[in-house]
Amino acid sequence: MFSKNQIVPVTIEDISDTGEGIGHVDGFTLFVSRAVPGDTVRARILKAKKTYAIAKAEEIITPAPGRVTPECPVAGSCGGCQLSFLSYESQLALKQKKVEDCIRRIGGFADITVQPIIGMDEPRAYRNKGQFPVGPAQGSEAAIGFYAGHSHRIVPTSCCGMLWPGHEEILSAVREYLAESGAAPYDEETGRGLVRHVLMRKGFATGEIVVCLVSNGTKIPAPETLWERLQKVKGVVGLCLNVNREKTNVILGDRLIPLFGKASVTDRIGDVQFEISPMSFYQVNPVQTKVLYDTALAYAGLTGEETVWDLYCGIGTISLFLAKAAKKVYGVEIVPEAIENANANARKNGIENAEFYVGAAEEVFPRLVKENPAIGADVIVVDPPRKGCDEKLLATMLAMAPERIVYVSCDPATLARDLKILCAGGYRIDRVQPVDQFPGSVHVECVSLLQRMSNSQSKAITLDVDMEDYHRIKSEGR
Ligand code: SAH
Repeated sequence: MFSKNQIVPVTIEDISDTGEGIGHVDGFTLFVSRAVPGDTVRARILKAKKTYAIAKAEEIITPAPGRVTPECPVAGSCGGCQLSFLSYESQLALKQKKVEDCIRRIGGFADITVQPIIGMDEPRAYRNKGQFPVGPAQGSEAAIGFYAGHSHRIVPTSCCGMLWPGHEEILSAVREYLAESGAAPYDEETGRGLVRHVLMRKGFATGEIVVCLVSNGTKIPAPETLWERLQKVKGVVGLCLNVNREKTNVILGDRLIPLFGKASVTDRIGDVQFEISPMSFYQVNPVQTKVLYDTALAYAGLTGEETVWDLYCGIGTISLFLAKAAKKVYGVEIVPEAIENANANARKNGIENAEFYVGAAEEVFPRLVKENPAIGADVIVVDPPRKGCDEKLLATMLAMAPERIVYVSCDPATLARDLKILCAGGYRIDRVQPVDQFPGSVHVECVSLLQRMSNSQSKAITLDVDMEDYHRIKSEGR
């Protein structure tokens, strides 16, 4: 058992999902911040529990082979780039191993070869979206920055090397506005104060930027003075307010109030144009998003005859990317604003064979199948949040028995879990392709292709949709 402030030498063997180095000493697991696999460090124990301890690297005894000195002044204290102490090459190797470990250990697939991860040529300034928490003054002005790892303590930051150059002018404008207008920064402890977050998103293909303040109320004082300042920043086309009055860690509330200019950013991926509301999910790394979607398109293997489902479709990005090569695409997404964007995006691109539905995929998809048994599914694409696909959704997918399933995932652990279920239900893994969407961070995206095994009948039994009609119509050849 360790005691607080004890100094322990430890060799780091692995990295946690949240970026701490993991090492073992006398049967205890140590989670060591500022340490990376391959390092041997002297770690100071910060918190000791029965079987594990939280620690911080105080001194590097032997550096990991890929260890570098990060350029970022807040590396190690900001919770954002957990891998900034590693060269990009080592970051990629770590992510590759993470995916391989999950596929093998969680999925139980001993003989699947994971494709080599696709990294970036220039792994900096790649992010098109920043979200900066605002908190009570530390010194003379409101704190604006990033959360420290595992905490809501704000590490004040004036700019971030992962965002586009120039975003710091927006932060300065907001800082000046807060000081001048008296709009109080929100205090999470008391629930008082007004301004909670500064959100900014840029369409890299168009240069358009929309700024959104998240506020603990429906009004901010003298918003025109903020707009005046923001208009001097190149690219800014709009200012919105998002209202979040809850005592919650969730950044966005569910009401958006456009204040000045445009309420959405226009961007392009390949030759498809998108309108993106601040409320909608949109991939943060446009260069790698193109790689990701091209891979998904290739895996979908479309000939123009297929009915495709894009579940967890966001603003319809993948749906519209695939629509030109498919007969029909159905998209399902839970955020209503995202579906508004998806419909507008389809119209904007003259795409008439895409249809979008709002709701939880695990409810909407089985319901639509039940209502219209002839609807069909040749290819199903899923792109769920980190928690992976809902079990009921997986069951419906198996029951629909599409030829191919393309699984886009931002969490290799839940991906592996879901692949195991799908393979138990009659599919085999054809490909697993990691794509580095988030240089600097521990996160990694993957696209997987699953093929239905011939003659396999779905083994998914527990469904509250009656699939009999569906299979009858399907076997009659529609
Ligand atoms: N495919 C899109 C979005 C992927 S992110 C893209 O590449 O841009 C995952 C999306 O799933 C988010 O838009 C989120 O709002 C949505 N979502 C979360 N839970 C959901 C659920 N139960 N049903 C449908 N959509 C859901």
